[in-house]
Amino acid sequence: MASSPPKTNQLVFILGHPLEHTLSPAMQNAAFKSLRVPWLYLPLDISTEQVRPVLQMMRSLPAQGANVTVPYKGNVITYLDGVEPEANWLGSVNTIYRKGGKLFGTSTDGEGFLRSLGPLRKKLKGSRGLLLGAGGAAKAVAGALAGSGVLGFQIANRSSRRASQLVRALRGKFKRLEVGAVSIREAEKLLPQFDWVVQATSVGLKHGDPSPLSLKAASPSTWIVDLIYHRETSFLKEARGRRLPRLGGLGMLLHQGALSFSRWTGKKAPLKVMENVLLHSLGSR
Ligand code: NAP
Repeated sequence: MASSPPKTNQLVFILGHPLEHTLSPAMQNAAFKSLRVPWLYLPLDISTEQVRPVLQMMRSLPAQGANVTVPYKGNVITYLDGVEPEANWLGSVNTIYRKGGKLFGTSTDGEGFLRSLGPLRKKLKGSRGLLLGAGGAAKAVAGALAGSGVLGFQIANRSSRRASQLVRALRGKFKRLEVGAVSIREAEKLLPQFDWVVQATSVGLKHGDPSPLSLKAASPSTWIVDLIYHRETSFLKEARGRRLPRLGGLGMLLHQGALSFSRWTGKKAPLKVMENVLLHSLGSR
């Protein structure tokens, strides 16, 4: 007789809004199943007002933690019992984990991003680039890039105030980093100077979103990354049209998820299982 499946004894959440597109529940539940960890990963689509009570509820539930996504990576920090230094100074938490009755925050986005680059990671050393965005994901990626051996980068964001805040935080930590804030229009003019462009805004999440920046002036060797993973965005389409080396956000989703999984369970994540689920989920859309 077939043995009955293990009963769920712990919960892990993903907190965000909107959550229709998230592939994390399928990826994490497959990882739990494959290592026979009897846990369940659940999406919780919440409003800003619900962030605090939901975290309070998690403290009294059999819950091991959560992922945090758009737009709450900054908001959760105030309500946690502690935040690891880099996530704290960058103001971006994507992973909450539990120690005793307390909840702590960290970010796996930056290291997940670096791991997703594969052979391109080596090209960061001594390079100059452009980062689009200054939200939660952009901050984590900026921290990872700043520590990766790059000479420097410019940050272009819709809100110039947020870009300048991020520049100040980076300058405070990385004294030799050449970092500054520019407008999107200025960035388009400066494109020939950049070895890479990383698109970390949410422009492209919705079908029909325009490209946040024209790549017309990019040099043919400039490599392009878009953190969005649900579809080929207008930005990546333009990069394909220009035959620029390019990467979507699926690898980052995989690696940040694998790092979160290890943080919760203490186990090495089953990368292949997780990757297959992501490819299958995207293929069936
Ligand atoms: P967030 O904290 O809400 O930040 C959103 C960013 O997008 C801000 O820089 C914001 O600029 C900009 N933005 C939003 N709407 C815009 C518009 N209409 N025009 C120009 N700029 C606009 O979100 P996040 O957590 O950083 O996520 C950003 C993106 O990264 C999302 O698409 C998310 O799916 C993706 N992501 C992917 C991964 C992965 O694993 N591949 C991981 C994390 C995030 P303002 O500051 O001016 O509002």
